[in-house]
Amino acid sequence: MPQQIICSDCGYVLYEGEIIKSPYEIIRKFNSRCPRCNRKLSFSPENVEVVLWDGGSNASKSNNK
Ligand SMILES: [Zn+2]
Repeated sequence: MPQQIICSDCGYVLYEGEIIKSPYEIIRKFNSRCPRCNRKLSFSPENVEVVLWDGGSNASKSNNK
């Protein structure tokens, strides 16, 4: 089921895809900075928004295939 990781500051989509990834991994890929607003990203609910399009029934585990 698809997942979105969004910069909560500017709304830039850092990751969008069917594979559930760790937000930490995505943030590291961007060198901990949002490419649009240059804000420092960290894996915390205030800085990064993780959206599960499903509505999040049992999708909270990242190793859930
Ligand atoms: Zn941003």
